[in-house]
Amino acid sequence: MTTITVIGAGVAGCSVSYLLDQEGYDVTVVEKDAVGGLLREIEFDTGYHCDSAPHLLFFDETEEAIVGELFSEFTDLEPHDFYAATYPRGDLSDPHHYPVSKQNIEKWDDADQIHAELEEAPGKTDADFFEEYMKNQVGETLYERYNKNYTEKHWGIDPKRITGDWFDFKISFPEEETEFFGDGAYYPDDKYTDILHQMLSGCDVVFDGVSDLETRGDRITAVRTESGDRIESDLFVSTIDPSVIVDTDEELEYRSMSILGTHVKADERLFPDHVDWGYFPNDYEFTRVTDYEFVPQETPDGEYILTTEFPCFVGDELWSQSESWYAEYLQQFLDEQGIEAEILDSQLRRAPRAYPLPVTEEIEKFERINEQLSSYRNMFNLGRVSTYEYIWIKDIVQQAYETVDEVRTHVPVEKAD
Ligand SMILES: Cc1cc2nc3c(=O)[nH]c(=O)nc-3n(C[C@H](O)[C@H](O)[C@H](O)COP(=O)(O)OP(=O)(O)OC[C@H]3O[C@@H](n4cnc5c(N)ncnc54)[C@H](O)[C@@H]3O)c2cc1C
Repeated sequence: MTTITVIGAGVAGCSVSYLLDQEGYDVTVVEKDAVGGLLREIEFDTGYHCDSAPHLLFFDETEEAIVGELFSEFTDLEPHDFYAATYPRGDLSDPHHYPVSKQNIEKWDDADQIHAELEEAPGKTDADFFEEYMKNQVGETLYERYNKNYTEKHWGIDPKRITGDWFDFKISFPEEETEFFGDGAYYPDDKYTDILHQMLSGCDVVFDGVSDLETRGDRITAVRTESGDRIESDLFVSTIDPSVIVDTDEELEYRSMSILGTHVKADERLFPDHVDWGYFPNDYEFTRVTDYEFVPQETPDGEYILTTEFPCFVGDELWSQSESWYAEYLQQFLDEQGIEAEILDSQLRRAPRAYPLPVTEEIEKFERINEQLSSYRNMFNLGRVSTYEYIWIKDIVQQAYETVDEVRTHVPVEKAD
């Protein structure tokens, strides 16, 4: 039987392992930390849980239903209309629509000038860089108030340099308040990690970090692990940072995220009733706060499960702050907003490789490194970290099916030689 080693047990590693196992391959998964990766829940000592920042299955039901089909094998998926608000003044009593709507303009004293700018703006264009794309669409003033600082905080890079093919998908400028994912959004009845564990039930799972590859000519013979083991197989699938496993002096840079999960008792909800999360384009260190009311669990009245997201780079002062520092930061924010609140429990999750950087230099670096990896004929890769693409669960599941097709049509090395 053909043996396959899959590196990493996030949603990429688990979904491809499940599909390969179903095809009859002998699959071993090597995971450095714990099953789930970015999808792993935060678990509170008080018995509740939430995602490491909200993770919703959003997909167009006609074109991208495959992710729904796969997840439905393991859980019921509940449709939800998710709504968000943005707080450009940092004031919870002043929610603005998100996606930013044309109605928001009336909330500003200089609405006339903003309308005049909009008349001059060319609208949706195929500009290559984020700042240009946004200014064409919403004009200078709205860009400054809703997007510029938020984008700098989120990515840690100048928005003039941000490139990508996600602008069209992620950004809209509706007339009025609209739900966040118009094409359909779902949330599972079961925890993501339980679903991913079920996906791995037919595979061997080894908890160890892969440190490098053992190669012969243009094929990989084994992976070597941090604890000194070697795992041989016929084929290999990677879902991790390629610069960790190929022989290179270059390091890929990712935007990281410290995510504070809190179980809070408060005298009021942070957001309007229908709103699930809020964005903060002002000078707070965090970008987003989420209220997990959509998770199927019962919390007592007046108690809320929240995450607060602090983007940073590994090595920044913010990254090295303690959990209690983050909890105090949130407490101070709630105090400033006049909300009487007590944090009953807090848990910090650090995601060092949360976002590949959408800038030309890093993408070119990735291509150099990935060229080495793809020179091995029995290696395949997928997932957000490994393909260095700003993609979502739906895209990763699509990649998992494509990877299985590639594996199926792969000519065994001995026969090819
Ligand atoms: C804040 C935030 C919110 C998001 N919200 C959504 C959302 O609402 N909807 C959506 O579809 N997507 C969302 N995403 C994107 C989604 O989380 C990712 O696309 C997806 O989880 C990535 O899965 P992955 O398997 O590619 O990577 P990961 O989840 O990072 O998995 C990689 C795995 O490899 C392991 N690993 C690393 N190094 C090694 C090693 N050397 N040896 C062995 N194992 C190793 C890691 O421990 C990890 O388990 C969000 C992402 C973030 C950061």
